[in-house]
Amino acid sequence: MLGTGLIKGLAVTAKNLVGSFHDPARYTTVEYPEVKPKLPEAYRNFPFLVAENEADPQGSLRCVACLICEKECPPQCIYIVRERDENGKVMQNPKVFDIDISVCMSCQICVEVCPFDAIKMDQEFEIATADRFDGLLLHRGELAKPNSYYHQIHPTEAAEVDAMLAEQKAKAAAAKAEKEARLAAAKAAKPAPADKDQPPPPAPAA
Ligand code: SF4
Ligand code: SF4
Repeated sequence: MLGTGLIKGLAVTAKNLVGSFHDPARYTTVEYPEVKPKLPEAYRNFPFLVAENEADPQGSLRCVACLICEKECPPQCIYIVRERDENGKVMQNPKVFDIDISVCMSCQICVEVCPFDAIKMDQEFEIATADRFDGLLLHRGELAKPNSYYHQIHPTEAAEVDAMLAEQKAKAAAAKAEKEARLAAAKAAKPAPADKDQPPPPAPAA
């Protein structure tokens, strides 16, 4: 009959309207900004840098400035300058790490190529600004966030990364201990150098 679909649709709407008075879980409207929505774990927007120490995120970045993410980023919106010591030797941490989020397309390629799990995708979405240039250019200080924050926004993924890093650390420690034990055994097996004060061994009889 003509109009049956329309009547069915209106019936569903009416049912949900009445139902929502009794069951707050059925509300679809979030009173933002007073109420912040609970984002799904898989939600992502722009990258941030993971730091080990909550008290000093800038000084404990996992990033070793290998530049892989900078090279692989499709729109080239990552800019890194490596730290150097007073003798000009390149250090394993970034002096400058900038991401231009006005260009970033949230593809997550930087996360996937990072061999050190040092860069992950953030969920911070209140980033509107009137300054479309400097306001959207995030520097090292704004990008550095502790591992506890990573656990807060992506708990499953962060736990997996922690377990994997702990396993890698244990394997490296075991390999180092094995190498040291082998070196010590080789040193112990080496004959002691001859004592110059001792008389030479007798010559074999003819
Ligand atoms: S998410 Fe994609 S576009 Fe954004 S910084 Fe990473 S690689 Fe570049
Ligand atoms: S974030 Fe990862 S891939 Fe990028 S420079 Fe740092 S360690 Fe290398």
